[in-house]
Amino acid sequence: MAGQDLQAKPSRFVTFIGGTAYSGSTLLDMILANDQSGFSCGEVGAYVYPFRRHHKSPTCGCGEPDCGIWRDPRAATVDVHRYLFDRFPDVSFLVDSSKSIEWISQQQQRLDELGIGSRNVLIWKTPQEYFQSRCKRSEQRGWLKSWLSYHRSYMAVFNSFTAIRYSDLVSSPASLEALCSRLGIACWPGKTQYWDKRQHTLFGNSSAKIHLYPRDSSPHDRMHDELSQLSTQPSLPRSETFRSIYQENRSDAGPDLSANEARAVREVVESLERRDARATSAQDALDGAGPVEAGRQQLVGKLVLLELYLKRYARNRLFEIAGMER
Ligand SMILES: [Zn+2]
Repeated sequence: MAGQDLQAKPSRFVTFIGGTAYSGSTLLDMILANDQSGFSCGEVGAYVYPFRRHHKSPTCGCGEPDCGIWRDPRAATVDVHRYLFDRFPDVSFLVDSSKSIEWISQQQQRLDELGIGSRNVLIWKTPQEYFQSRCKRSEQRGWLKSWLSYHRSYMAVFNSFTAIRYSDLVSSPASLEALCSRLGIACWPGKTQYWDKRQHTLFGNSSAKIHLYPRDSSPHDRMHDELSQLSTQPSLPRSETFRSIYQENRSDAGPDLSANEARAVREVVESLERRDARATSAQDALDGAGPVEAGRQQLVGKLVLLELYLKRYARNRLFEIAGMER
């Protein structure tokens, strides 16, 4: 497989997980990092550039009050990945599930300058699955726009990435194996049991992080209460779901899409399926892009990034002017 030669890879690398909210990125982050050479950073971009109130007082995923990783001033800088590699010399790969396209792009440039490799993985839900996840939290408004715009922007900015569908991650060991093989990391039957390792994951999805803590421990109870309050659906009994990987949305109920919306969705889904971890032709298709196509992609990617930066800047300024904190 082109580009997948383990020997040719730099010894240290960061895997950046992209995806919309509720895509399963925290789950994938901790599964991939469940390796003696791996380290899960979680949403470290939000720690370096906080945009919600809780980002300013992070709690480490390990739940240990004496864990000082995220209290070290070197951690809260754009050099966070280098800091982690320096602090943990046995770690050869980090997993970063910040998801922000601007963050990934900025960090990849920095890592490139440092001679540290990087990989892109996109985890995704179908519009129906995503719609259900948003409904579960009463956040239906604008769901399709978010889904389309994240994936379109991501694909405009990054031309090299591997996609994995959330439902495949939770149900198909072959998908995880194919993804690990592309990343050049080990995969074994217990790899999905990410709670076996002490994970220092920052922020991210509580339904994935709750399994890190022993049953009836205080972080576990706190997260369980938090999840029950957020969800509009009754939660499954704790005994049924504790430390198990399962697909949460199994209903067939889906949104009604117009013909145009359905076409737009289909285009994105087809692109994602072509990049699937198990699609043997995915890397060849990328390598086969001609110079004109590659140049166009670069230009479009830069414009999309510029738009994202401007939007974020405008939003932050508005919040500043209004004296509001999120
Ligand atoms: Zn920790």
